[in-house]
Amino acid sequence: MNTDGTPGLRRQTTVRTTARVAAVVLLVVGVVLLVRGISGFAADAQSMAMDGGFGPILSIGAGSFCIVFGLAAAQVGWLRAGTSYVAGETMPVVKDSLTYVTASGPFCRQCGTRNDGDARFCDGCGQSLA
Ligand SMILES: [Zn+2]
Repeated sequence: MNTDGTPGLRRQTTVRTTARVAAVVLLVVGVVLLVRGISGFAADAQSMAMDGGFGPILSIGAGSFCIVFGLAAAQVGWLRAGTSYVAGETMPVVKDSLTYVTASGPFCRQCGTRNDGDARFCDGCGQSLA
């Protein structure tokens, strides 16, 4: 934890903004390179001559790299939104687990699992608790 608070938070926001800008730039550049590379490659294939040499292939490769890094940057830039979504999805499970751990109901006579107070059948083995 930061003792001085805000600077760390501000730096994190800057990193996130930078990552978002980088993601957009990289994705745009990547798509442009990819399209140019593919169209150059197609032109070469049509004329049956490798006029462009390795140019189109390099362009496709560079474009793919840019898109991969752009997606990675996007993941960093939008990580917080993703994390809180995941947290929202997992919290009910955590709550269920907590309820299970702190269950105060009867122990199962067959397997020893502790069940909810209002449970009629064992959570562990299905044995009737009546
Ligand atoms: Zn049981």
